Amino acid sequence: MKNEVLIYTKNKETLEFLREFFKENNEYPTIFIKDNKSLLNRLNKKKPDVLITGSPDELKGISYSKIGCTVIAMLSGDITNGIRSVIKNSVESYLISPFHKEDFEYKLNAAVNKTELAKSIHYEKKDLETVLELIHIISSTLDPKEVLNFVVSKIAEIIDVTRCSIVSIPFEEKRHAYVIATFENPKIANIKLDLKNYPEIRKSLSTRKTVVIRDASKDPLLKEVRHIIAPLNIRSIVVIPITFRSEIIGTLFLRTSRACHAFTDREIRLCTAIASSSANSLYNAFLYEKMENEKLQLQKLAITDYLTGLYNIRYFYHRFAEEFSRTRRYKFHLSCLMIDIDHFKDVNDKYGHRIGDIVLRKFSDLLKKHTRKSDVLARYGGEEFIMLLPQTPAKAAVAKAEALRVLIGKHRFSEIERKRRLTVSIGVSSYPARTIKNKEDIITVADNTLYKAKSNGRDQVVFHNSKIQN
Ligand code: GH3
Ligand code: MG
Ligand code: MG
Repeated sequence: MKNEVLIYTKNKETLEFLREFFKENNEYPTIFIKDNKSLLNRLNKKKPDVLITGSPDELKGISYSKIGCTVIAMLSGDITNGIRSVIKNSVESYLISPFHKEDFEYKLNAAVNKTELAKSIHYEKKDLETVLELIHIISSTLDPKEVLNFVVSKIAEIIDVTRCSIVSIPFEEKRHAYVIATFENPKIANIKLDLKNYPEIRKSLSTRKTVVIRDASKDPLLKEVRHIIAPLNIRSIVVIPITFRSEIIGTLFLRTSRACHAFTDREIRLCTAIASSSANSLYNAFLYEKMENEKLQLQKLAITDYLTGLYNIRYFYHRFAEEFSRTRRYKFHLSCLMIDIDHFKDVNDKYGHRIGDIVLRKFSDLLKKHTRKSDVLARYGGEEFIMLLPQTPAKAAVAKAEALRVLIGKHRFSEIERKRRLTVSIGVSSYPARTIKNKEDIITVADNTLYKAKSNGRDQVVFHNSKIQN
């Protein structure tokens, strides 16, 4: 942005000199103000870089120390009084009539430089405060994701950005990146980016340097993806690598839209400082995620049967206890199916144990596919399975068992010869019932009923009570 010069004086000779000077010298935009009131309004709205006045006494109701820019006084007429007024008001720079163009030019440039220096010190101070605040938050917040979300929202607060994200680059593969924090939405997690579409990130990774794209519609680096980014209305892009122990683990990814300005050097410097202070958090976020995944994996392994992928019996009992107490408290129904494959030994004998295993797995997949989310299906042991049906009365449970029996009987397992089909025997128990006093009875009764189904000739469903109660 160009430096702005404000001029306010009633002295005709001074005005003439200034008009003449700025006609020849158009380096700075100049605004001539006519009266004291307009000057006050203007100063309240926007600070100029330099204010040129006649004798400081000309300005009424203005405190020089509060103007916030360099002031040049142009003294003419009563010079002694003028100098006194300059000293009284601590005006930094003045000229005495007759004015000389070279002298004025020299003082004007010095005034502009002084204002620029003051501005840059002001921004440096603000930036330093921001970095200090961030470092404080980073060192006092335990959750790394919270830190990264804070970092992006802070950047968005101090810089006019359209998008600001922290993108993590996994160690093991360099073809994809993941947006793990973005200021538009703190809940966004792990959006996958195909780096094929982000040449600016790829360049930052290969050169290990910050990539600055001032105009996204013209920069040759984006040529191959111009059709993708054209509708996004992007003006400039900055990618700053985040390095942890000399390894790039992510990038700070900033974009402005066409309505905004291109990034300034100061903004890039500030973001670079922020990026390097976020490195630890980003690394911790990686570790945290890895540990969480491993924890989930272990939890899954602990409740899963290794061969069939169904729940194991340990988890079944855990859920069973929960479901039973809920059933009793709310006076629900609870039914249980005990399912056993008929003559499975023959499958092993004919095709071998390994094929037997594959058939068991496929059989389990089939059962699982026909199990509701609220039901609990587990491998009870060997070729025997148990299914718990919460809030299901006897009639519905028997119907479910029958549907499963028919489904399995019709299914063709490709490992077994076409004319042979697997059949199952199913024992069904249902609570409440006269013969079932506690939760253990539900399983014992289902088991005994299954035995009945076997002795009755297999491939059938038997309910423990000849009379089905609803
Ligand atoms: P039925 O239940 O109809 O009385 O006859 P069955 O042959 O299915 O019953 P039995 O209890 O005599 O034998 C169960 C068979 O299931 C024997 C065993 O080899 C097989 N089996 C149990 N667990 C596995 C397993 O994990 N993999 C394989 N391949 N076979 C298994
Ligand atoms: Mg069997
Ligand atoms: Mg068995």
